Amino acid sequence: MWNILQEMRINENQRRNDSIESDIRRSGGDLADLQRQVDKMALVNQALYELLRDRTGITDEDLRRKIRDIDKRDGAEDGKIKASPLRCPKCGGAVTVGALSCQTCGATVAPKYPFEK
Ligand SMILES: [Zn+2]
Repeated sequence: MWNILQEMRINENQRRNDSIESDIRRSGGDLADLQRQVDKMALVNQALYELLRDRTGITDEDLRRKIRDIDKRDGAEDGKIKASPLRCPKCGGAVTVGALSCQTCGATVAPKYPFEK
């Protein structure tokens, strides 16, 4: 009887182990996809910046200053951009970041900045 219980526990642990290994493999693939997307975005950003610099005359210092200004908008100069909390233009209620409409009154809510979600 003891051996049967032990065997069942071993089999259950093996199933869990297989499931965890599968999750780890999948996560590795997701991480590699994410890295490819970040690399591509960095490349596109660099290309866009160089086109703007060459055609408009903005300088690297202009870009650095603008990055610092945007970084400070959320109150923390931490190298990250966070979506700022929104207020509904119709009722003044708090709107969840990323929501397209007010949960209180249903009014359409536009993001404060074009690239905010
Ligand atoms: Zn509202």
